[in-house]
Amino acid sequence: MQTLTTRSKVASNKKMTFVEKLYLPAIMGGMALTLKHFFKKKVTIQYPEQKREFAPVFRGQHVLKRDENGAERCTACGLCAVACPAEAITMTAAERKPGEEALYREEKYASVYEINMLRCIFCGLCEEACPKEAIFLTDRMVDTDYVRKNFIYGKDKLVDPLNNPIDVSKRETRETREFKTHPEFTHNKLNTKSLK
Ligand code: SF4
Ligand code: SF4
Repeated sequence: MQTLTTRSKVASNKKMTFVEKLYLPAIMGGMALTLKHFFKKKVTIQYPEQKREFAPVFRGQHVLKRDENGAERCTACGLCAVACPAEAITMTAAERKPGEEALYREEKYASVYEINMLRCIFCGLCEEACPKEAIFLTDRMVDTDYVRKNFIYGKDKLVDPLNNPIDVSKRETRETREFKTHPEFTHNKLNTKSLK
């Protein structure tokens, strides 16, 4: 039968010599290789005590940002959920009541906002879709756990801490803001239409 590729190799049935049957040369060769690597610079690190610096484009755990007055920016428009290819985001919208202006920037806000971190593929499309600069992916790792339900992150884990805001300046750049508001791009026209 004709093979489809040229990658297959014919197995060698050559008889082993007496020395080869002792396996000593192979063992010594293996030991020499191990010894060679013993004195080389290690490529592994002692995680979690030691941590590597992430690339600026790394996308980790999300944050729901607040505005400069501490009010939540998210208006529960649902565009992030629609953009999410993994269907990882769910939310419930609620109407802001009088007196809650300091808590929520818009008249509509997300009373429930959840991301299933087991579904999320950290693609960043939610961040790109958000017209309110409310959701960002950060350089934080999602914690490990043994229980699946603990990977559903609610607002308690997602909303920016008031006293210790997460720095997203590397991602909230002038270029990204221009990209989101540029009138020529179709996604901005769509966003504007769906928000009306
Ligand atoms: S990063 Fe991608 S997969 Fe994760 S929630 Fe956002 S859009 Fe969905
Ligand atoms: S796209 Fe932004 S404003 Fe809209 S629901 Fe998602 S995080 Fe909130």
